[in-house]
Amino acid sequence: MLFETVVLLLPFTLSLARPPPIIDDASPPRATVYSGCKVNNTVALTFDDGPYIHMNNISDMLTNASAKGTFFVNGHNYDCIYDKKVAARVQYAYEQGHQIAAHTWSHPDLSSLNMTEMADEFTKINDALLKVLGIKTPFMRPPYGSYNNLVRQVAYQMNQSLVVWDLDSGDSVGATLQESEGNYTMAIASRPANILALNHETVKTTAASLVPFAINALQNAGYQLVTVADCLGLDAYSYQADQVGTWDKSWFCPEDEDGDDN
Ligand SMILES: [Zn+2]
Repeated sequence: MLFETVVLLLPFTLSLARPPPIIDDASPPRATVYSGCKVNNTVALTFDDGPYIHMNNISDMLTNASAKGTFFVNGHNYDCIYDKKVAARVQYAYEQGHQIAAHTWSHPDLSSLNMTEMADEFTKINDALLKVLGIKTPFMRPPYGSYNNLVRQVAYQMNQSLVVWDLDSGDSVGATLQESEGNYTMAIASRPANILALNHETVKTTAASLVPFAINALQNAGYQLVTVADCLGLDAYSYQADQVGTWDKSWFCPEDEDGDDN
């Protein structure tokens, strides 16, 4: 009888003694990285490094072609996002239905920063987008497409995914207009299911010539020009106020205070 009890209890005892599953503390959660679109027949044209002087013009060209684009904006790169006329550009593109997402405050290579510096770069542009547009964006693009695991960890804590690209127009790395147009022509010729294209709002020839060329070539090839969110099948914003913000004295770039305005 005693023997029988021991046998019956043995499996239970063993299962209690089993060690708990190993949790890998060395791998805190990391943000998703999107390097391409997901929805068939879509193209997301993206424009980095603004808000700058070409934003309204690009917005209008897209709108007039029944297209949508996405602007990955900085807080203080070419211009200060809190300047009245600069904030007005961001609000203009946003109100036309183009997507606005984050590209850090000052455009550093995030992979060279420590966690505190990195969090500051995320927080300051996210705060600015909340003030200027009344939005929270779930998308950010790391400058230069440069990221490491720490960047992904910080982005995860900010409830943001990273968005890079699968077609670089080359407009910020020395390509001529003809070469940039050629990059689109070659990409279209291979008939991909979708394209996530990198351009820069700050490049004059992009605003003047490359954007109309790309819109025309892509639409003639049958692609829908949509926002990054739509090409991924996701929501553009995790929060949207009823209306955009109104300028007040808290809207300023701290770098302007000490004369370091670049
Ligand atoms: Zn950039």
